[in-house]
Amino acid sequence: MKPATKYIHAGMNPDPSTGAIIPPVYQTSTYVQEAPATHKGYEYARSQNPTRTALEEAYAAIENGNYALAFSSGVAATDAVIKLLQPGDEVICANDMYGGTYRLFTKVFEKFGIRFIYVDTTKTENIRKSVTDKTKLIWIETPTNPLMNITDIAAVAKIAKPKNILVAVDNTFASPALQNPLDCGADIVMHSATKYLGGHSDVIQGALMMNDKDLREKLYFIQKSCGAVPGPMDCFLVLRGIKTLGVRMKAHCENGAKIANWLKANPKVGKVYWPGFEDHPGHEVAKKQMKAFGGMISFELKNDSVEEAKRVLSSTHLFSLAESLGGVESLINHPASMTHASIPREERIKNGLSDSLIRLSVGIEDGDDLIEDLNKAIG
Ligand SMILES: *Cc1c(COP(=O)(O)O)cnc(C)c1O
Repeated sequence: MKPATKYIHAGMNPDPSTGAIIPPVYQTSTYVQEAPATHKGYEYARSQNPTRTALEEAYAAIENGNYALAFSSGVAATDAVIKLLQPGDEVICANDMYGGTYRLFTKVFEKFGIRFIYVDTTKTENIRKSVTDKTKLIWIETPTNPLMNITDIAAVAKIAKPKNILVAVDNTFASPALQNPLDCGADIVMHSATKYLGGHSDVIQGALMMNDKDLREKLYFIQKSCGAVPGPMDCFLVLRGIKTLGVRMKAHCENGAKIANWLKANPKVGKVYWPGFEDHPGHEVAKKQMKAFGGMISFELKNDSVEEAKRVLSSTHLFSLAESLGGVESLINHPASMTHASIPREERIKNGLSDSLIRLSVGIEDGDDLIEDLNKAIG
């Protein structure tokens, strides 16, 4: 089945009791059993919920995976993956990734004796050199938030496979419409469904997709035991969002390309970070593993001062100043003081995330209106 058809039909089985075409919001905490331990597969809603089951079926289908689990947030999904590990285990991860992932690794899991080794994963040689007999997981994000760095997923899988190291990919920025890491050899795909999958800035949710049954069982056990499950209404909203993922991503990509090129040609704008540019260092890999280059763009101003960046950030009208991304409406964000404030300044600057960097989540409004808004703000 082609993606556009999957987005509409995956997980959509008519409700067995009424024939409802859309999976109902099963707002229930428990299920009545016929006799002790005789039930219809649903016992207690932390363990199973039919709205969630429908969504998990859709999640698996859109990432070409055999299985999927829905979580209460993206970070809850990441948290479950790290809980597969033991004290002493090592994780190789990107030195440029979502601030909340960095915070979870350094502030929560390091104290349980898990070691995180941060490298520039765009050069897969750095990963190969960091592997030890304690390495159990390689965590990558591509494109990265906010610098749009690209890591070659297939090359990472090639390093990991012979050593039985798991490869997990945060695929939030690309969405399943543009990139499918399981097809490139990854073991686990993670999504903040809060972003493109939900698509309407009205829900917090996370997802994990995988092919291996044993891995699915381990992650499900962690989820059931730790309890980071999404509510049925949130599952309903993401199911609804997925239906338009294909058309939304087309519009995000079209506007993204238009705005990235406009920014690049603007004399007041400095460096523009977008993997669709031929001179982007990850362009060739992006072309290989992505179907298009997305609607996330970061840029610096020629006048590289925090004050000027803050002035622009406060001057747009269609681009709302807010954290998050991937919704139909355009957002503008200052990573240094907002989404990435939890990364120490020194660390940020070292990794190329400057004080004046501006990140755009380009929505699906009319592209010319968006350019006019930016043009007035940049001045
Ligand atoms: C938002 C985001 C997360 C975290 O997801 P939540 O749903 O906010 O918990 C993880 N990775 C990336 C790339 C994100 O943008």
